[in-house]
Amino acid sequence: MATKARLFVISGPAGTGKGTLVARIRDRRPNLDLSVSATTRKPREGERDGVAYYFLSEDEFTRRVEAGDFLEWDGHFDKRYGTLRSEVDARLEAGHSVILEIDVNGALNVKRVCPDAVLVFIAPPSLEVLEARLRGRGTETEEQIALRLGRVEMEMAKAAQYDEVVVNDDLETAVDELDAIMDKYETDERN
Ligand code: 5GP
Repeated sequence: MATKARLFVISGPAGTGKGTLVARIRDRRPNLDLSVSATTRKPREGERDGVAYYFLSEDEFTRRVEAGDFLEWDGHFDKRYGTLRSEVDARLEAGHSVILEIDVNGALNVKRVCPDAVLVFIAPPSLEVLEARLRGRGTETEEQIALRLGRVEMEMAKAAQYDEVVVNDDLETAVDELDAIMDKYETDERN
């Protein structure tokens, strides 16, 4: 059966292990490219420009919004984040599936402009596990953790609008599930 490059959008609350899952699935699927988002927030320790994000100034971000360079963009807290068309279009045309790791509002906006996109929600096994993971990674202040936990309910409610949900309890199982989901959509009989 013919395979088709697809746009996969991965989201889920912070602390669900999305980043690890995405790294593992990329090791398994060499034809899967990662879209690097742009943001106006400052780099965290160890984050490199063009790898973690394209770190843009407020003015540069605004200029690129006005130029129509974004597939979608959104504000989080007092910063902006967006998906650049240049990260997605050429890769799909070259036959590579693309993975976007973005929040629920961004994902639903992508689905609106690209109905063919496959939305995959990564859910934590429970809220208690999520809170413990968030605290354990030690990258955020208590205030930031509280803000992030406050968003979880809204995010979980939107999971119903996703095409697929993967519960990240055991990492290996979650990677297998995501791999199978990608196979399924790339070999969709409508392709
Ligand atoms: P962080 O600052 O922790 O890297 O990301 C904060 C939030 O921004 C996360 O929920 C993340 O998913 C979201 N985000 C990252 N890239 C994008 C993007 O390109 N578009 C949108 N809408 N959200 C994004």
